[in-house]
Amino acid sequence: MVKVAWFGLHTGEEPPLVGVDNKIIEIADNEKKCGRVKLASLTTRHQPITSFGAGGIFFTGCNLRCVFCQNYQIFQENLGGLYSTEELANIMLDLQKQGAVNIDLVTPTIWWKEIKPAIILARERGLTLPIVWNSNGFDSVEILREMKGLVDIYLPDFKYSDDEIALKYSGIKNYVETAKLAVREMLDQVSYLQIENGIAKRGLIVRHMVLPNNLANSFGVLQMLSEIDISIHISLMNQYFPMHHASEYPEINRIVSEEEFNQVYEYLQELGFTNGWVQGEKSQKNLIPDFRKKEPFK
Ligand code: SF4
Repeated sequence: MVKVAWFGLHTGEEPPLVGVDNKIIEIADNEKKCGRVKLASLTTRHQPITSFGAGGIFFTGCNLRCVFCQNYQIFQENLGGLYSTEELANIMLDLQKQGAVNIDLVTPTIWWKEIKPAIILARERGLTLPIVWNSNGFDSVEILREMKGLVDIYLPDFKYSDDEIALKYSGIKNYVETAKLAVREMLDQVSYLQIENGIAKRGLIVRHMVLPNNLANSFGVLQMLSEIDISIHISLMNQYFPMHHASEYPEINRIVSEEEFNQVYEYLQELGFTNGWVQGEKSQKNLIPDFRKKEPFK
């Protein structure tokens, strides 16, 4: 059995992962007004979109314990129901019927043994959508190799470049080396992001959310990613909001300032990244889902 907190269509991911030419996604290049701006090289946004929404499956539990977790209701408080392999496969097939552009497995790592046979079963029964592995980056190479050939799009976070900070905020040891090895393995498996008709079909996107008062951490993350491969698609996120236990850590008990975010954005450009997205809006509490509601994203 696998524990799932919520499933359904949602539009909270990067444009080619949700298939929506959403008005809140602005092209403003270097001018960050609102929504997400895209970096220079992507040219897919204006292609026709025929489907709508990522087919999200939010699994209960997480292998990290982030003090600022925005989804702590499901990842740390174990909200959710139990589903068999067959039921999980049927959820995937239902999401496909509803018009999802992919199957977005959110924080799947601890459930890989249950997810693997469900993907195989869903494929046998007609699932054609890309499978997205939407993780926190703390994925062992062994687990990723178990998923090889089953996952089409890897969407890991790369949260930290400093193990002390990872231990302090996420209660995890050896995050940095694990995430570096994971990104390399993911890139080896699926290569760069491939987009057809505005929809991501295969490849890698690495996310990094900027934390207040932790610019050196962000610079280090971008530096490490640039050393892995400068052509990786990066999603630089500006949606930090002090949730959960963040108030116990004064330095992260506020949103990221515009100046802080701009410094990270400028460093990303200095390093030479050209693929991906930069989240333009300031962090907003209303971006945070409430999983106690039937429609958590509304
Ligand atoms: S990795 Fe994400 S889901 Fe897991 S505890 Fe941290 S913020 Fe929450």
